[in-house]
Amino acid sequence: MDKAVRDKYTVVIGLEIHAQLNTNSKAFSSDSNQYGSTPNSNVSPISLGHPGTLPRLNEKSIEFGIKLGIACNSDITEYNEFSRKNYFYADLPKGYQITQFDTPICTGGHVPIRLSNGETKNIGLTRIHIEEDSGKSIHDIDPFNSLVDLNRAGVPLLEIVTEPEIASEEEAYEYLSEVRKLVRYLDICDGNMEEGSMRCDANISVMLNGAKEFGEKVEVKNMNSIRNVKRAISFEINRQIELCEKNVEILSETRGFDAPNGSTIQMRGKEGVNDYRFFPEPDLLPYVVTEAKIETIKAEMPMLPNELLAVYTNKYGLSEYDALNIIEIKEIGTYYNQIVSLTSNYKGAANWIMGTIKSHLNKFGITIAEFSVTPQHIAEILLLIDTHKISNSSASKKLFPALLKSPEKTATQLAESLDLIQNSDSDDLAGVIDEIFTKFPGETGRIKGGEMKLIGFFMGQIMKASGGKADPKMTNKLLMQKIKS
Ligand code: ADP
Ligand code: MG
Repeated sequence: MDKAVRDKYTVVIGLEIHAQLNTNSKAFSSDSNQYGSTPNSNVSPISLGHPGTLPRLNEKSIEFGIKLGIACNSDITEYNEFSRKNYFYADLPKGYQITQFDTPICTGGHVPIRLSNGETKNIGLTRIHIEEDSGKSIHDIDPFNSLVDLNRAGVPLLEIVTEPEIASEEEAYEYLSEVRKLVRYLDICDGNMEEGSMRCDANISVMLNGAKEFGEKVEVKNMNSIRNVKRAISFEINRQIELCEKNVEILSETRGFDAPNGSTIQMRGKEGVNDYRFFPEPDLLPYVVTEAKIETIKAEMPMLPNELLAVYTNKYGLSEYDALNIIEIKEIGTYYNQIVSLTSNYKGAANWIMGTIKSHLNKFGITIAEFSVTPQHIAEILLLIDTHKISNSSASKKLFPALLKSPEKTATQLAESLDLIQNSDSDDLAGVIDEIFTKFPGETGRIKGGEMKLIGFFMGQIMKASGGKADPKMTNKLLMQKIKS
């Protein structure tokens, strides 16, 4: 689309995220909440909605909601009621989902995102509420029948709804990345959009700049990655602007994303809007969140990405870029924290992670959990380097590969057995330098006479004579002293 045309319009986006909670059991029964189990194996009469069965609240889902609310600065609701959201579908045996309607566990709050110009923008949250998932209908395995898997029926979800404050597909991408990072740091959801454990519906409208009222919104569903949410929104913005340019009215509707074509297609129009006939769930007592409960959860909260960013940049002196790079994946952040609990070489630890370690993980396509070199090893390597016992290059080229093979050994043991320990004993080094001076009397005369470009030649000779084990800094210092004496 022509930029000038797009720039005439203001884009308005609100996102609804469904995050599947990684509790052990389901929201209202003790059925297992294990992803990937044999279809229809995590089901009891409760998940199957048999008459006479009663739901019982899994308190963990409330606690997870409170955790997220604290992290987003939301207000936590004290008096929580549950409601029935009624509709008919084959994967919903009860005929209703239990959800929070009037009393979402969290209201308000925000998620800060970083914009491309370096500024921070807070995306306001309308509400976060708890609900149970439906079962799963599968239409693409059997050519003649739709299959139903009820393992997902009753799995706890948090629905996170934003205000209509997201202004572009890039902001939507950032927002989703931040929420995913947050739920992973809080360990309440694995954030895996590909497996459907985090899902997102995007509400999109456009209006001429300065318009007083929002345009009619279109809801897009079925995006299975953050990148696809961005693609779907891009397509939808262009489609809506093109219609506006042609004076065609935009109708409120629900569209699906067609990933191979990068386009959205109509699923149902406004006339298909459900009336869910919400009413209070008579089988569950209201749940009261006490102040003490909130305080207990607060005390157990882990360090969150933005708190880590502040520590890494202010206390450890890392650049924002490096800090964000390490924080991006929680397990890498944890690994870094373990190294710096053992060394104060914060920058060195960051460089090791972003350099040698990440290239190794990428090369073998493994995660840090599958990586055999421990934070203790890295801290020890840094100590060996900082005390001039080994050089940076032998640490990454020789010691690191040796540690990968023998992680049961310490870095010092391996450095010794590989003969990597540098000679930084000044008496020994002085002896070597004297030897070289004797061996090359001509060059010695010239450098002492001021021909400093010969320094490289002497450094090379000394390194050679010491078998590569002379500490370069120490050698240079001693050499300079001897030239001037
Ligand atoms: P509905 O009742 O149709 O579900 P809601 O008011 O619950 O609509 O809003 C659903 C989501 O749509 C929220 O994230 C909200 O911010 C967003 N939204 C509301 N109006 C608009 C609009 N005109 N354009 C884009 N997003 C919108
Ligand atoms: Mg809604």
